[in-house]
Amino acid sequence: MSAITSAARISTRIGHAVRRPGRLAQAAAALKRGVVPAVAACLALGALLGSSAAAHAADAPGAALPVVAAENFYGDVVKQIGGAYVNVTSILSNPDQDPHLFEASPKTARALQHARLVVYNGADYDPWMTKLLAAASSSSSSQRAIVVAADLVGKKAGDNPHLWYDPRTMPAVARAVSAALGAADPAHKSVYDANLAAFLSSLKPIDDKVAALRAQYKGQPVTATEPVFGYMSDAIGLDMRNLRFQMATMNDTEASASDIAAFERDLRERRVRVLIYNSQATEALTRRMLGIAQQSKVPALSVTETQPAGVNFQQWMLGQLDALAKALAQK
Ligand SMILES: [Zn+2]
Repeated sequence: MSAITSAARISTRIGHAVRRPGRLAQAAAALKRGVVPAVAACLALGALLGSSAAAHAADAPGAALPVVAAENFYGDVVKQIGGAYVNVTSILSNPDQDPHLFEASPKTARALQHARLVVYNGADYDPWMTKLLAAASSSSSSQRAIVVAADLVGKKAGDNPHLWYDPRTMPAVARAVSAALGAADPAHKSVYDANLAAFLSSLKPIDDKVAALRAQYKGQPVTATEPVFGYMSDAIGLDMRNLRFQMATMNDTEASASDIAAFERDLRERRVRVLIYNSQATEALTRRMLGIAQQSKVPALSVTETQPAGVNFQQWMLGQLDALAKALAQK
């Protein structure tokens, strides 16, 4: 039930387009100058991982490979494929915060120094990652594999960056992660291969659900305050309306008066079956649209950008698809 709610979590946001170079530059400069002493870096990474022993163990032969994922859903996929042989630090992991407000810190930079594998989204979702990696060209960088989801699915800056909602993305990321782990740790390649096969087949219920929704609801009009669920909506074949409004919200630019009016009309006249909103980014205009949807009895579906605690990627996606099915079934 929790997925269909009113705007329970209210937060302000600055938006995709905003850059905060100050702390990033500071973190990058710290890395470049090498002012982070190795022991301090290990202790800091240890704190991230929950124990300093874990960080030091990573230096020992045969120990778990240190991996950094910019977003926790990619971190989850690495864990599902690497199992006990990886030590994953996910940087964005709080579903109550807006990822677009994230500022890279020296702590982020230090975690990257140790990583043998780095996974991030790209398509300008996490531009701090490219900058930190460019700065972190230490001796360990020759050993570091990098997987960029956007590159795997042919997306770039300016495209909708919420790539993990595209059913084609995670299989590609999982294959790349499995290959990178197998190359970094050939002794366990057969484990990574087997875990990859298990992961790929575990996605089948998601694909089946998408196909079932498509069969029943293809062409149905829906709207959203932001394009976070856009790729999934496309996969189902929903008629997603008010795209200009969504891009304006995402980029924190002002939607035009006529775009706002069109959105409100869609809700008031119940021209859409569902209003999808991002519960991690609910500024004034989003709350206003939620209010109109409620008055007009248009079901609202809350989605998150970041994977919630206590569920894996597959459960998260299935839960949201189930909630969508319920919302679409309402009259
Ligand atoms: Zn977003």
